Amino acid sequence: MLRQAYQFKVFRSKRLRHLHRTIDVSAEIWNHSVALHRRYYRLFKKTLPKARLQVHLARLRNGRRAHWKAVGSQSVQAITDRLYLGWEAFFAGDIKRPPTFRKRRKYRSFTLKQTGYKIVGHGRIKILGRNYRFNQSRPVSGVIKTVTVRRDALRDIHITFSCDQVPQPEQAPKTGLSAGADFGLKDFLTLSTGERIAAPQPLKAQLRRLRKAQRTLSRKQRGSKARNRARLDLARVHRKVANVRSDWQWKQARMLLLTFELLVFETLNLKAMQQLWGRKVGDLGFADFLVKAQWMAKKLGRDLLKIDQWEPTTKSCHLCGHRQDMPLITRTFECRSCGNIEDRDLNAAYNIWEAGRRLRSGASSKTAYGRQDALVTAESH
Ligand SMILES: [Zn+2]
Repeated sequence: MLRQAYQFKVFRSKRLRHLHRTIDVSAEIWNHSVALHRRYYRLFKKTLPKARLQVHLARLRNGRRAHWKAVGSQSVQAITDRLYLGWEAFFAGDIKRPPTFRKRRKYRSFTLKQTGYKIVGHGRIKILGRNYRFNQSRPVSGVIKTVTVRRDALRDIHITFSCDQVPQPEQAPKTGLSAGADFGLKDFLTLSTGERIAAPQPLKAQLRRLRKAQRTLSRKQRGSKARNRARLDLARVHRKVANVRSDWQWKQARMLLLTFELLVFETLNLKAMQQLWGRKVGDLGFADFLVKAQWMAKKLGRDLLKIDQWEPTTKSCHLCGHRQDMPLITRTFECRSCGNIEDRDLNAAYNIWEAGRRLRSGASSKTAYGRQDALVTAESH
């Protein structure tokens, strides 16, 4: 059984203003909660208990802030849940900043749990008492846990159904192949089979458009109509880039996991990569890709392993294990111990593959014999 999210675009209509309104009110509740939390902390030097905040918000909804009723009580709860997750992550040191005030324009969504919506038919849903039509491009299966209504920077509205217990489709056929994969600057991925996956060309074209739109926006006067138009243009390009990238990543993940029964990656160390490569690694989308690949592995019944970088995969010879310094400029690994000459990324991919297989055979008691067998066959390439 899988978890899966289905996202659909809600068709434009005047009625959408009610959804926008609900999102705006959600922003108000969010900001009110942040303000309360801060004041409480200033006064008592401790965190405002969640239950107290919830009681307070409920009282306001039934009194002075009756317009807050546009947001159902479960959605209010979803807001406080998200806030407290944010605060917990902040106090645990996982994120740098606590949840903070948000502009209405930048506030994007509200979530419904069991109530507040009803699916009326194919592509039809009732949300908070009003009917909407959405572009249902595929069937929704499993059990719907939450429905999230989200607007993007262009004020288009999408709904997302988060489902549990989605039946697993048939498993992908056996191929007997496994590989290690190394993320890189030059090629997006280098596989231990020698195959390389370049970053997609269309994305590069979009990134040029993105830079142009950013330049245009920076030249416009603050508060002007032209600036607002440029802002929307930029948002449109951003959305396009995100869609193209995501689409490409899904296709690559699917293709790779159909081919390989076992795929080994390195655990991403984005900080180290940034230091080494000296630019924003986040832009390259490695982390997003890994999330998709993991989901796809689960869906197709494949294994995806992540190995920790306790041994530097770029700096060790994959044949003899000799370690040497590999400045970024050096594209070829020339082993000073055994004389092996290999492309830098390919050598790393081999090491990742090896480490994954060692890990796998160490845990062999848990592994099906068939899998092990498949690994042995794959060694011959
Ligand atoms: Zn060597």
